[in-house]
Amino acid sequence: MYLALYRKYRPTTFDGVIGQEHITTSLKNQIKNNAISHAYLFCGTRGTGKTSVAKIFAKSINCEHPVNGSACGKCATCVALNDPSNLDIMEIDAASNNRVDEIRELREKVKYPPVNGKFKVYIIDEVHMLTDSAFNALLKTLEEPPKHVVFILATTEVQKLPATILSRCLRFDFKLVGQADLEQHLKRIFKDSQIEYDDAAVSLIARLGEGSVRDTLSIADMCVAYTNKNITYNAVLNAVGAIDKEILISLAGHILKGDVHNLLKELNEVIKTGKNIAQIAKDLANHFRDLAVVKTCENFNDILKYPNDFVSKLEKQTKDVSIDTILKALKTFSALDNEFRLTTNPRIVLEVASLNLCDEIKNYESLEARLEALEQKRPQTMSVSVQTQPEVVLLKPTKQTDDKTLFGKMLVNLRNKNEVMLIALLGENTNFNLKDDVLTFVCSNEQEFKALTKSDNLNILNSAIKEINPALSVKVEFKEVKAEKSMEELLKEKLGTDLKVN
Ligand SMILES: [Zn+2]
Repeated sequence: MYLALYRKYRPTTFDGVIGQEHITTSLKNQIKNNAISHAYLFCGTRGTGKTSVAKIFAKSINCEHPVNGSACGKCATCVALNDPSNLDIMEIDAASNNRVDEIRELREKVKYPPVNGKFKVYIIDEVHMLTDSAFNALLKTLEEPPKHVVFILATTEVQKLPATILSRCLRFDFKLVGQADLEQHLKRIFKDSQIEYDDAAVSLIARLGEGSVRDTLSIADMCVAYTNKNITYNAVLNAVGAIDKEILISLAGHILKGDVHNLLKELNEVIKTGKNIAQIAKDLANHFRDLAVVKTCENFNDILKYPNDFVSKLEKQTKDVSIDTILKALKTFSALDNEFRLTTNPRIVLEVASLNLCDEIKNYESLEARLEALEQKRPQTMSVSVQTQPEVVLLKPTKQTDDKTLFGKMLVNLRNKNEVMLIALLGENTNFNLKDDVLTFVCSNEQEFKALTKSDNLNILNSAIKEINPALSVKVEFKEVKAEKSMEELLKEKLGTDLKVN
């Protein structure tokens, strides 16, 4: 029979626990120094080892001859406590035993001394699920615990615990396990189980596990079942239902070009294959995160650990794209996680976000192109900081194109001053007009308005325009736009009315 890796490789000693040395060291010292507390609180994300450590601790404080702080596993007490039906280590799941009666019953039971060892240990899992009255009953026991009793309360949501409970417990925070630790752990397990693997596959499984040993090993289990003991990178992708990397490259390519049409077409294809929408968004977020790493880190594949042919594709994709654009996309897709929880139609959320992102990227890139075109038009010898005749001639404020030319020149001046933030702020805002020598920007976004009207920024804008003509000045106005359109309306507007929403 196949035993799940998570069960088979559950640690039995403190030294076998992955990535929680800050906790296991303190607990070992308490055992060595015979300084056991009566109540412990283990907090942290699921799958980080809270229950495993609680069980090891429960056995170790009872062991007759602990080895380096951990239960020996051989003495009479260890043997007795390894029997799951023993009466000294009680595991209680608060999610299903959360009523006050059950805690009262527990209070009665704690009076009896342990059968085998020195301590009776109660491990209460998901303790935040207890009702208020159950908490009160538990508190009475925590206030005056019998000498032979140790409580270990474990929770994933410590903020839900009453302060009265918190103050009675010695608290330990379990952290997410690092990628390198997870990889090492996986490799050890695969070798021990005679499972073949490639490094890129191990790296991917560890990344998908997101810091949880349990999740990492569950994913590994899925891969083992899927591949029959030869775990390759592609096999992992298939086993977990993640989108093929080639498709991600192609989707990201459409996004970076601002190509809405092909993006929606291909997204539709992916969705048709039955992929989960939230998973698609997550995969896209991860892809843009990878691109950001490629763009900013020199030895990026030390971090990413991808197969070589895929790495060169990533490099190619980042070549003509600014880091700003990549980060914009990363932000968009990672923010969707929250929105999916609030919607009954995740597909629309994903599509609208993709549309807006494409628009934003297209505008941003066209601003860049506009700047470049302006710089090329500028005669080589002309210095921007000097007022020159031809530029002033252009300023006769009569036609609409004049404000655009002026705006463009101002952007060039700002760029020469390295005012990238201001250029980005103005780039978002194409609404401006020139009247009586005043160039007015009209903001509909309050944040943008506040940023632009900071006195430093306003001074810079004014000096940029006065370099073109000292008679000119800049003004920024705020104008609220009407309530935002619903997502359906936006989609219909962009795609036409034949939209069918599944
Ligand atoms: Zn022992």
